[in-house]
Amino acid sequence: MREQVEIELAEILREAREQARFLGELGVETVDLSATRIVQAPDARLMAKPDQSSARDTAAPSPRAVPRKPLAPQDALFEGLAPATPVFPRATEALADIWRDIGDCTRCGLCEGRTQVVNTHGNHSARLMFVGEAPGADEDAQGKPFVGRAGQLLTKMIEAMGIKREEVIIGNVNRCRPPGNRQPTLEEAAICRPFLFREIAVIQPEVIVVMGNTALRNLLEVREGITRVRGKFQDFRGIKVMPTFHPAYLLRDPSKKKETWEDLKMVRDYLQTNPPKAKS
Ligand code: URA
Repeated sequence: MREQVEIELAEILREAREQARFLGELGVETVDLSATRIVQAPDARLMAKPDQSSARDTAAPSPRAVPRKPLAPQDALFEGLAPATPVFPRATEALADIWRDIGDCTRCGLCEGRTQVVNTHGNHSARLMFVGEAPGADEDAQGKPFVGRAGQLLTKMIEAMGIKREEVIIGNVNRCRPPGNRQPTLEEAAICRPFLFREIAVIQPEVIVVMGNTALRNLLEVREGITRVRGKFQDFRGIKVMPTFHPAYLLRDPSKKKETWEDLKMVRDYLQTNPPKAKS
């Protein structure tokens, strides 16, 4: 029994560490613990789908009517704690604050070859966000993400979903063009990524489409590449993430457009069948 308690404590510690690392990435320096709420675990009977039980069964059971089984000591220790599902803390800033912080950034070597910083662009309260790798030559010249050939293909893909480009928001892991359009290094991505995370906390999109391996690996802790992970919804701090191929890759291998379209249809169907969520 003691061993079980130790395992559960180690798990709580691991999750707390992960949450602290994540908050650090968002730039949070202190956490006000007085605002922390302990959430009561929902009653499993109330979570049952209506069609799985009779109307009588869905009524909340009176505490006297349902005698409680005594809790084992390890369960009693954790009673009242909701399962840990780390979600984005509510942002107290606007996108403009983040962009002001980024400024004329010189935090990594990519600043040396760029013309300008290319920030996330689009609808600030979009339900749907697209994330790519880093600006190319056209984006570097115009200061907006995905305006070159890959961007034109992305616009067509968005419109095929029945959505206007102005309705979504589009960003990159890195905001400065890497020389020769090479992939950003792990260090360059790690320096820039916290700004993307802060933007996501402000925007609170319902779905993020990560395009290609750089976006995939910087948002999700996955070892597999995009070919294996694509087409399956993943979770990023309570936000649904759909990994798919990068439009620049589709320009090189158009045969992959079919799979990409399957992935985007899943996103479209999700957004169509779920009412817009109120942003906290
Ligand atoms: N490729 C990207 O990943 N991002 C852009 O903005 C343009 C091309």
